[in-house]
Amino acid sequence: MQDFVFQNSTKLIFGKDKEQFVGKEAVAYGRKLLLHYGGGSIKSSGLYDRVKESLKDQGIEVFELGGVKPNPRVSLVREGVALCKEHDISFILAVGGGSVIDSAKAIAAGVHYEGDVWDFFDGKAEVTDCLPIGVVLTIPAAGSESSSGTVITNEEGWYKRSAMHPSMRPQFAILNPVLTYTLPAYQTACGITDMMAHILERYFTNEKNVELTDRLCEGALKTIINHAHTVLEEPTNYDARAEIMWAGTIAHNDMLGTGRIGDWASHDIEHEISGIYDIAHGAGLAIVFPAWMKHVYKHDINRFAQFANRVWDVEIDLNNLEKTALAGIRKTEEFFSSIGMPITLKEANIGDEHFSEMAKKGTERGPLGNFVPLDETNVLEIFNLAR
Ligand code: NAP
Ligand code: FE
Repeated sequence: MQDFVFQNSTKLIFGKDKEQFVGKEAVAYGRKLLLHYGGGSIKSSGLYDRVKESLKDQGIEVFELGGVKPNPRVSLVREGVALCKEHDISFILAVGGGSVIDSAKAIAAGVHYEGDVWDFFDGKAEVTDCLPIGVVLTIPAAGSESSSGTVITNEEGWYKRSAMHPSMRPQFAILNPVLTYTLPAYQTACGITDMMAHILERYFTNEKNVELTDRLCEGALKTIINHAHTVLEEPTNYDARAEIMWAGTIAHNDMLGTGRIGDWASHDIEHEISGIYDIAHGAGLAIVFPAWMKHVYKHDINRFAQFANRVWDVEIDLNNLEKTALAGIRKTEEFFSSIGMPITLKEANIGDEHFSEMAKKGTERGPLGNFVPLDETNVLEIFNLAR
């Protein structure tokens, strides 16, 4: 097991109606707040009014910036930075999903920086300090509500890039499963795929003595698999929504990566796809992850056989571990398909016209992944496997 430091200080407030406490939580960080949100789902659900009421009750002055798009854009981040500087805002409240939270984190990082915020994403500068942010989560998926990362898209060149720093971890996140009842099935499924991918990125490691984290990963994956069809068929099933919501946070709060080095090539490859084609991140991962698995499984057939057995209940064939490993990959693919995800680029109407460009852009800062480092040719092969 590798040495590690684990510190996740995000206060998680979980349960029905908990958004009513958002004002009380936020006021600890000052009385000038930027309310950041997406395209309108929070208005039609009534959440926007409830949040504003709770903030008003605490005497908080609210500035607003809505309109965050899925695959959030740096242009809106720049607007947010300017707004925060102009009004001397002390706290950012993100009400929404990963896109809104990531946009809020980038704004929070940009406020204390003299240069252009994109510098953090193309490696020209490191985040050092941030405005504090808080979250009311409406979609379990990205895990950004307690992660230290943000992913932003630059419309100039359609680069989708990430930045990380501990100070970007939200101070608090309110998780009310009822708020997820209004999610369309497709978004629910994209979220499920993304949280599974966050666990799989950590599961496929070269570290050998990591039983506890292996078992935690497998338990979280099984829980998601057990409840996925229920939330799709019964969108207002509280218990199933609660399991999925909690799993989304657990999947990406770094606990499941302790003592090991994760992979993350599939995420990087997916960012090339959603950067150019603007598809949902989860849908992109349902396409990339099985292709990545097919490309790398021979590197550690035992680990893939363990995955097949413990997560998908495939019987281990000791005389043919490769068969067991491949069955696990097939089960993963079938599961993504069963929840309505595309599992090939063709199903997402994506042709091969940008394969070379995406493989080149994706690897221009070096090989991707740690389980098996991938160069441009390998990434191209993965795009071909995902056709
Ligand atoms: P999202 O992009 O934030 O939201 C997807 C869609 O769901 C939006 O159209 C949104 O509509 C809608 N929606 C959200 N909550 C809803 C609700 N309760 N009812 C109805 N509709 C709702 O989704 P996400 O998957 O959470 O975030 C994806 C982004 O996160 C990607 O850019 C991905 O790369 C990134 N990501 C970040 C991390 C990290 O750690 N920072 C990790 C993985 C992925 P409205 O806009 O109208 O609200
Ligand atoms: Fe993700």
